[in-house]
Amino acid sequence: MTHLREKGCSRLRGFSRASILVLFLFCLPGHSPCAQVQPKLKVVTTLFPLQEFALAVAGERARVDLLLPPGAEPHAWEPRPSDLVKIQKADVFIYIGRAMEPWAKDILKAAGSANLKILEASKSFQLLEAGNLSKESSPGHRHARGEEHSDPHVWLDFSLDGKITAAIAAAFAEKDPASASHYRANAAVYRSRLEALDKKFAAALSSCRHRQIILGGHSAFAYLAKRYGLQQIPLYGISPDAEPSPKRLTEVIQAAKRHGVKFIFFEEMVNPKLARVLAQEAGLRTLALYSGANLTRDQLKQKVTFLGLMEKNLENLRKGLDCEPK
Ligand SMILES: [Zn+2]
Repeated sequence: MTHLREKGCSRLRGFSRASILVLFLFCLPGHSPCAQVQPKLKVVTTLFPLQEFALAVAGERARVDLLLPPGAEPHAWEPRPSDLVKIQKADVFIYIGRAMEPWAKDILKAAGSANLKILEASKSFQLLEAGNLSKESSPGHRHARGEEHSDPHVWLDFSLDGKITAAIAAAFAEKDPASASHYRANAAVYRSRLEALDKKFAAALSSCRHRQIILGGHSAFAYLAKRYGLQQIPLYGISPDAEPSPKRLTEVIQAAKRHGVKFIFFEEMVNPKLARVLAQEAGLRTLALYSGANLTRDQLKQKVTFLGLMEKNLENLRKGLDCEPK
């Protein structure tokens, strides 16, 4: 009954249970004075999926900011001083981990806030096989800085997203214990949507003519590929900051020919021109595939959701991999 503690409702304290229940009904959206639930938590997230999970868990009880500006390529992005201030003022900071946000360690040290709850999403479950995953699906591709990184694209496994969502609910409950059951209930609803999506992917991708995702983008889909028995053959490595070598271009064209695929997938935020050139050269058609890490300005305007983008991915995968009709 935390609604009752919101501004304008405090006078309700001390009422009998029945009258609180009656008054509670008037606190539903649209009824003043309780229509506006003041957000209790300030949350800062780095990537779009994390923002969506956090909003799904909190509802109106948190203000959830996304650090990435629309259209920014997430691997190349680095925070500005104003972002440090946002993090300092936050109650909860949610990021993927060192492989995705190498800048986080320093900025969190600089933020130095004792109040701040930090949630490293990729640590909310065991990811021991992550390093092997990326090596397998992207031979010879290493991070441009020369380090061997584990694959940060964990949000492209919807079963892991369920665990991240549960971890977010636990973090919010820790900062706002009075709303713990609200966060847990919301997390359960969102997790059931993730489970349904996972089942839909598994069923829809079980009988396809091709199992290779020829990708003009970067190696972001190893988790998704592994979960549904597919293989990604990407042009770029785990981070798209280094242009692919001519050798890699040839390898990808040859793989497309060898597997007899008709489509090459491209990413809007990773130089789609190169994918189009490649498509022309290999006589392929192009289809979009979204990592969902960030939105373009247009997608933001259209109020695109992470789950919606993944539905679009499934549609395109079914077409590109020539899957049997449902
Ligand atoms: Zn990426």
